[in-house]
Amino acid sequence: MIIITIQHDHALDQPDELGRTRTGYREGMGSGELYEVARGSWKLGERAAGEHYALITFDNLVRQAVEIRRLVATVNGRSAIEGNVLNPGHPVYDEYVNKPSPVPSTQNPIRYFDSPIGHKPCGCGCGQLLASGRFAAGHDQTALHQRVKQIGTVDEFLDWFDAVAGPFVKD
Ligand SMILES: [Zn+2]
Repeated sequence: MIIITIQHDHALDQPDELGRTRTGYREGMGSGELYEVARGSWKLGERAAGEHYALITFDNLVRQAVEIRRLVATVNGRSAIEGNVLNPGHPVYDEYVNKPSPVPSTQNPIRYFDSPIGHKPCGCGCGQLLASGRFAAGHDQTALHQRVKQIGTVDEFLDWFDAVAGPFVKD
């Protein structure tokens, strides 16, 4: 889980890479506004790539939980999160939102946390729950070959692929 700590509401001298002229937390702001403030852009590091959720904290309290759909590169090696703001009833929301941050605050706005909840099933259908990433190690191959098998042999799969996607051109 990514823990993002945002600052208090403040104006920016010029629009930033996400087109914002203000950023930070303000009492009473809507969840859409908070999402726009918190989603980036940040120096996230490699670990961010497989994370399923982000928690947004301000003043050591979790203010929002976001299910990460993807990370998009912005400028200078920074990234912004694209995802869905969670609502009450979602286990990650219920566990963390409006409660103290699960990790102590530091100077760094980005921290990571091994949460016991919010795990997602492996994309191959084996049922294994993963704290991060779409597949357990090697299970991307399983998922791929399940799809091949649905078409037939590897030969038949390649013919089918070329017919659907256009002939494969090696670059
Ligand atoms: Zn699997």
